[in-house]
Amino acid sequence: MTLEFFIYVAIALVTVAAMEVFAWSMHKFVMHGRSGWSWHKSHHEETEGFFEKNDLYALVFSLIAIALFFVGQALSPVILAIAWGVTLYGLLYFIVHDGLVHQRWPFNYVPHRGYAKRLVQAHRLHHAVEGRGHCVSFGFLYAPPISKLKEELRRSGVLDRERIERSVTEQGSAHAPVR
Ligand SMILES: [Zn+2]
Ligand SMILES: [Zn+2]
Repeated sequence: MTLEFFIYVAIALVTVAAMEVFAWSMHKFVMHGRSGWSWHKSHHEETEGFFEKNDLYALVFSLIAIALFFVGQALSPVILAIAWGVTLYGLLYFIVHDGLVHQRWPFNYVPHRGYAKRLVQAHRLHHAVEGRGHCVSFGFLYAPPISKLKEELRRSGVLDRERIERSVTEQGSAHAPVR
């Protein structure tokens, strides 16, 4: 293990953190924006079958990650480290979002404590609101405290207290808002 190796690991880890900021802003401003909603809408509604139009975002980002591997291989180990960071973020995103929250995998595991529980509840609250406006919690690996999100929803007046509570405790249908 050389010092260089640890520098590349550090670059990959910084990339993971930067990806969360990037994904948060993509989700908030593009996917919930006027232009990006046409793909993302499918993720906020009930859809037939396993795939939804929103999966195209994951496809696009996977292609970018693959391209980064090729470019990195040819040009620079720094770009290669960034490619690893993007890939690691994709994997963590899949585990938390598609796995733990939306149960798109064969495991029936729902975390009942700690930060993993908070991540799942925060994303359920993201899905509690119908439509693209007034949603809360746009991150995937970072979730604000649940009490803060509930307060935000109550203040915006889109959901009543009872529905907010139901959203965090009940496992709704995979992609639809909790009713
Ligand atoms: Zn969304
Ligand atoms: Zn979701």
